[in-house]
Amino acid sequence: MLKRIGVLTSGGDSPGMNAAIRAVTRSALSQGIEVVAIEDGFKGMVEGSMYLMNTRSVSDILYRGGTILGSARLPEFKDIEVRKVAVAKLKEFGVEAVVVIGGDGTYRGAMALTDMGINCIGLPGTIDNDIVSTDYTIGFDTALNTVIQNIDKLRDTSSSHHRCSVVEVMGNKCGDLAIYSGLSCGAEIIVTQETGYDEQEVLAKLRELDMNRKKKHAIVVISEKITDVEMLAAKISKATGFSGRSTVLGHIQRGGSPTAFDRVLATRMGDYAVELLVKGIGGHCVGMVHNEITSFPIEEALAMPKASRKALFALHQRLI
Ligand code: ATP
Repeated sequence: MLKRIGVLTSGGDSPGMNAAIRAVTRSALSQGIEVVAIEDGFKGMVEGSMYLMNTRSVSDILYRGGTILGSARLPEFKDIEVRKVAVAKLKEFGVEAVVVIGGDGTYRGAMALTDMGINCIGLPGTIDNDIVSTDYTIGFDTALNTVIQNIDKLRDTSSSHHRCSVVEVMGNKCGDLAIYSGLSCGAEIIVTQETGYDEQEVLAKLRELDMNRKKKHAIVVISEKITDVEMLAAKISKATGFSGRSTVLGHIQRGGSPTAFDRVLATRMGDYAVELLVKGIGGHCVGMVHNEITSFPIEEALAMPKASRKALFALHQRLI
């Protein structure tokens, strides 16, 4: 019978992490299992930065962005000697199993700990939607809505000045924030790792939109790490009839109160993680597939091929 579990958030933060912490805590407490908060991800685990929570510890956090536990990156956690210190600290605090909320790096840490006898369950907490074993990650929907609100504003002002706004969005190597926001805002051009980037093609398309289609403005949504958007905007001003402007949305995408979708997702996933631990399962990650909450062994999840968004890109092309 499981007596005490831990919960932590790790990697980049995402809106909805708090809702997940609350669900894990309240779900465990309702079953008579104690919950220890582990601060700053695996760093707090190694340093013994932990405290026992009660039901009030997670009051008033469901709707808050960020993470009350803090998050950190600790590359040294890949070293087994460092993980041995973490396991000793967990034992000292009587923590038998842990729910970790984060991205794929966090999942690798969870798998390594499970191999050392501490059952861990991973929850997908990242705005990037880059975890293949779930249709949606916790925080993606909120970040998407933040992107959309900002692009809508840019469109208003672009339209008044015959501008082309180049908007860089996050996503790491995953283009979902770009394709979903581009579709939601009717962006004229969407560039992701999957579409590939051809600067001359982008400029030619913009000239066509300006001269033949008489567009008043244009929006180019582009995933981060593809090109320098400031330079692209300057080239647009030179080579097309639009005046180019670049906007890097940056960390604003990580903040804000989670949407209803993210709150419900986090709540369902948090509860399910506890259910798995109670069953004695470790080394799994929770996902939502076709609206069902399910789980996969982390190793299997990390090896899954990334889903193509070809159909969404084709839809976007048809409607522009
Ligand atoms: P994000 O998607 O926001 O980047 P992430 O969870 O992928 O989140 P990482 O920095 O890659 O973020 O990983 C978080 C932490 O997980 C690392 O700082 C490290 O402590 C731990 N970690 C990552 N990879 C491993 C690994 N191979 N073995 C053990 N621990 C790992």
